[in-house]
Amino acid sequence: MQGAALPLVKLPSGEMVPQLGQGTWHMGESRRAFADEVRALRLGLDLGMTLIDTAEMYGDGGAELVVREAIAGRREEVFLVSKVLPQNSTRAGTIAACERSLKRLGTDRIDLYLLHWRGAPRLEETLRGMEALRDAGAIRYWGVSNFDVDDMRELSALQGGEACASNQVLYNLMRRGLEAGLLPWCRAKAMPIMAYSPIEQGRLLRNRTLRAVAVRHGASPAQIALAWVLRQPDMMVIPKATAEAHVRENRAALDITLTPEDEAELDGAFPPPRGPRPLELL
Ligand code: NAP
Repeated sequence: MQGAALPLVKLPSGEMVPQLGQGTWHMGESRRAFADEVRALRLGLDLGMTLIDTAEMYGDGGAELVVREAIAGRREEVFLVSKVLPQNSTRAGTIAACERSLKRLGTDRIDLYLLHWRGAPRLEETLRGMEALRDAGAIRYWGVSNFDVDDMRELSALQGGEACASNQVLYNLMRRGLEAGLLPWCRAKAMPIMAYSPIEQGRLLRNRTLRAVAVRHGASPAQIALAWVLRQPDMMVIPKATAEAHVRENRAALDITLTPEDEAELDGAFPPPRGPRPLELL
């Protein structure tokens, strides 16, 4: 089964990746859920959501083992994203963490390798580790996560820092602060944002306005929350779903076009920021 082609987002290199991908946080935490998680990711791949986001942190490596199983025999279809923990992010630590991830993932390369959030090691150290991995072919691109504008400025001032391919951050209707700072900054650099927790881990879904908009579209609240992020064509979005119905729903969110009235109503319930605000983390 092959899904229709998904809209694509351009990385700074010019490479195009699917706008809608799949998250894996809380996968790989229990043996009982393993098969269902693998099945969900495979279904997502069948439906065209071939960008998979994981991290050494998730399930203490367990999520990467789920991903390994899901992508077995179909590595070429997948744009694989993983992350190094800040405590591992010295030059040597970054290289060693990536090697461990590659083993767990059962592949010889990660497409995009991110620093999960800023930690004690100097940014330059991490950058040198990323460069060494890229030069060795272990990763194709590197990027960051949970970096606010000041962090991005500091990074891009470093030699080689401009090569950062993406910044993965918390963004959904309830978390719009970055619209007043980080988002325009990244846009000016043509660096796409990857939006995580796009449905706020389910906490968004009981909102009355969201539900009312959903009813008008014959859609679910989750689909409207996703459609709202997806309406920005330069943003990648990575919902996590283990339930088969959720995977299918999320893919179908791409078919929803919000009207100006929908957007105005959602702006009323979830107001855009009036000025710069610190980036929120989950
Ligand atoms: P999320 O995607 O906003 O929400 C996931 C939750 O929503 C799961 O409980 C899932 O249930 C449920 N769900 C998914 N689709 C649904 C639908 N159509 N209807 C109703 N419920 C639905 O939250 P997230 O997992 O925090 O974020 C997504 C991914 O972003 C993560 O998995 C991870 O890869 C990444 N992330 C990165 C960071 C970072 O610091 N860089 C932080 C957080 C997340 P089921 O699983 O039962 O289907």
